[in-house]
Amino acid sequence: MKSIVVANWKMNPATFKEAKKLFDATRKAAEGAKNVAVIVAPPAIFLRELSVGYKGKRLTFAAQNAHFESGGAFTGEISMSEARDAKCSSVIIGHAERRGMGEENDDTRRKVVAALTIGLTPVLCVGERTRSQSGEHFEFVREQLVAGFADVPPAKIPRVIIVYEPVWAIGAERPMNARDMHEMAIFIRKTVVDRYGQGGMNLKILYGGSIDESNAEDMIQNGDVNGLLVGRASTDAEKFSALVSALGAL
Ligand code: PEP
Repeated sequence: MKSIVVANWKMNPATFKEAKKLFDATRKAAEGAKNVAVIVAPPAIFLRELSVGYKGKRLTFAAQNAHFESGGAFTGEISMSEARDAKCSSVIIGHAERRGMGEENDDTRRKVVAALTIGLTPVLCVGERTRSQSGEHFEFVREQLVAGFADVPPAKIPRVIIVYEPVWAIGAERPMNARDMHEMAIFIRKTVVDRYGQGGMNLKILYGGSIDESNAEDMIQNGDVNGLLVGRASTDAEKFSALVSALGAL
């Protein structure tokens, strides 16, 4: 089974030397698991130096965030074209931590279309902050999806990768139950198809939130997902290698 694994290093590690070491382990893991497509998202300041030195084909690079404007007075930001120039092929959009810092659905709408326009794959993150019995989380996720896809031409819908990351499961003790993910994957596909057409059937849907080497296989086999976004475990070389090789064996 072919799966995608996004390694979101967040604001880690502290030095380029450590980043290079982690990258070497990540590269080895990717090279040993032919049916796992690893996408590494290092801090922007390390991106180019890691990517230009990498000549292989088993792994691709993502920016953790990029601005929707093509350039200008946006101190501290990077643009989609700068990310592409640093050899990124995808960009994470709307990560819960960015949303927590003020990114809104309207920003994700503009970022998704800006990424597609320049030839980057948008990796659009959605997910509710809390869950209750009343099922309001479905409406919350629906709004995030409707906004994210609002300007995407129908033919490009399958090029967007969706990551469902319930905020309460990020940085937590354990991931969401795989059966609940299965239900959410059906909901995500149905929502996009109902609103934007059949292209939604071909969407790639990933899960993110407290995935490590001990639970990745269960989520892939029972969660109806095409892959995983991994935070903490992606910065631990041993854990990440074990995770990738577990998926490689499926
Ligand atoms: C994340 O980076 O979105 C994430 C899921 O982190 P963690 O795997 O540490 O929960």
